[in-house]
Amino acid sequence: METKQFQAESKRLLEMMINSIYSQREVFLRELISNSSDAIDKIYYKALTDDSLTFDKESYYIKVVPDKGNRTLTIKDTGIGMTKEELENNLGIIAKSGSLAFKKEQEIKDGHDIIGQFGVGFYAAFMVADVVTVISKALGSEQAYKWESHGAEGYTITPCEKEAVGTDIILKIKENTEDESFDEYLEEYRLKSIIKKYSDFIRYPIKMDAAIKEPKEDAENENIGSTEEQTINSMVPIWRKNKSELTDEDYEKFYQEKHYGFDKPVKHIHINVDGTIRYNAILYLPENIPFDYYSKEYEKGLELYSNGVLIMNKCGDLLPDYFSFVKGMVDSEDLSLNISREMLQHDRQLKLIAKNISKKIRNELQSLMKNEREKYELFYKSFGRQLKYGVYSDFGTHKEMLQDLLLFYSSKEKKLASLDEYISRMKDDQKYIYYAAGESHERIEKLPQTELLADKGYEILYFTEDIDEFAIKMLMTYKEKEFKSVSSGDLGIENEDEKVSESEEKEHKELFSSMKEILSGKVTDVRISKRLKSHPVCLTADGEVTIEMEKVLSSMPDNQDVKANKVLEINSNHEVFQVLKNALENDKEKLYLYTNLLYNQALLIEGLPISDPVEFTNDICKVMV
Ligand code: ADP
Repeated sequence: METKQFQAESKRLLEMMINSIYSQREVFLRELISNSSDAIDKIYYKALTDDSLTFDKESYYIKVVPDKGNRTLTIKDTGIGMTKEELENNLGIIAKSGSLAFKKEQEIKDGHDIIGQFGVGFYAAFMVADVVTVISKALGSEQAYKWESHGAEGYTITPCEKEAVGTDIILKIKENTEDESFDEYLEEYRLKSIIKKYSDFIRYPIKMDAAIKEPKEDAENENIGSTEEQTINSMVPIWRKNKSELTDEDYEKFYQEKHYGFDKPVKHIHINVDGTIRYNAILYLPENIPFDYYSKEYEKGLELYSNGVLIMNKCGDLLPDYFSFVKGMVDSEDLSLNISREMLQHDRQLKLIAKNISKKIRNELQSLMKNEREKYELFYKSFGRQLKYGVYSDFGTHKEMLQDLLLFYSSKEKKLASLDEYISRMKDDQKYIYYAAGESHERIEKLPQTELLADKGYEILYFTEDIDEFAIKMLMTYKEKEFKSVSSGDLGIENEDEKVSESEEKEHKELFSSMKEILSGKVTDVRISKRLKSHPVCLTADGEVTIEMEKVLSSMPDNQDVKANKVLEINSNHEVFQVLKNALENDKEKLYLYTNLLYNQALLIEGLPISDPVEFTNDICKVMV
């Protein structure tokens, strides 16, 4: 008997595939089961148009049979089978896919589709087998054929006996090597778990003979070794079901079964899109932050199915970074698959689906915020930071998408407020959205800079996270209102009489220029403050970089030593001011001492480090004695 050679490029492809395409060996089973399912689909389609065929559900199934004694694993199906020519054409040439030709001929009805458009799937069998034998009897033929191959050398085809229409694929499982074990592919529990993982939603039953677990007590040894036929897969995927059929518990159960998280999801989103793109998805907003979420190790992504078959565990391309917390899965029939299901093209369909998904997530978050505020805040506590990173990242490209989802703590309401809520409460004459940055709500509340604003009844948003101010800078405005730090030079609220008058400025010119000289290199200016009421001094910043930003930047590993232009503001109504004036007249040394003391006090209030704490405490002692 003559062994036919694989075509030259097939040979190379085969070796390449065996060694590299599939990252995990176990997917060979997924590929073979999918082929079987396709073959049953083909009979199903034929039955739709051919009256002489009836599609009787009971008689169509896939069966997986491990045989440890012979070291074989058999995958049987009752599908359409292959003729001699088909065995030759479909299994002899790797790049030719029977599914593709068939698909063109048939009108695809009923949403059923045939996966696997470019075939190498079958060859995945060689990852675990030395010899692959295919025994097949095609629908409508009398003769069955046996195709056999030892891998790259080629294959033989001979006539053989087979009773029923369909295909048996017999894998002679490789012997274990020093580094690798192949025994697992003969183990019942292992095969079951592979089937569950990848092929749970294949439409036809996948059967296995399973050992009966618990023998009856009174007949202890009787059942040992006996088996029963079980269906391993659950067949109907929850995402294909009608939303109205499903309860919250069903979704939660799915979340847990899939190990998306250990928490209870805050919300699920079930999407069925049937338009120019078609896909089903079940997405979840988790409640808790995964332990590695804000680290480099965290990998975003959704499970990706092609027509019920898992093709990727974590498809990162389906989620933008700012929604990286979303868990769940997507199933689509429209995905074009590359040379294998494993190597999904970064194609147009996938991009369209990703875009669509992002929009749905956004809308869901928006409505959660509106209608189930408590739940939203629970979610926001965990992932609000990620949304703010989203606003800031990629030069603000996503700010339109995300700005309505932000919440900040409000000085007035003493709880979280959206920007829209802030705007709706703004005073008639209010020009800006005010914010104050600091370590905690308590510290911000005590910031001298907030005194005047708070006193006049303006609402202030409290920024306590590093990212807050950066995100806001990227946003620049919200509904045409600019953001304004309470520490910025001009607050835009002063009446004419509250502004520092020219005469006042002139009057104290000497004092301020002396103080500025004393603090040279530390501050860019010393001024009278109108925002202070009870406090003697505070630090503010001129220009784009605020003091809070300086703090954040200086804590970063690649710190560029960016500094805010600090201004020391002095309350001219405070008693201390008179003390300064006296010192200027009578005792320059005292002026030096007091100026440094006040500057260091202002630093402390801002939470900035004092450059020389020992000198500072010595200065205090000097004042005391
Ligand atoms: P793909 O399934 O991606 O087309 P494969 O290499 O896995 O590629 O299979 C090649 C072809 O062989 C299939 O398209 C199909 O026509 C045929 N085939 C494979 N397995 C079976 C089977 N169990 N029953 C019938 N035909 C099969």
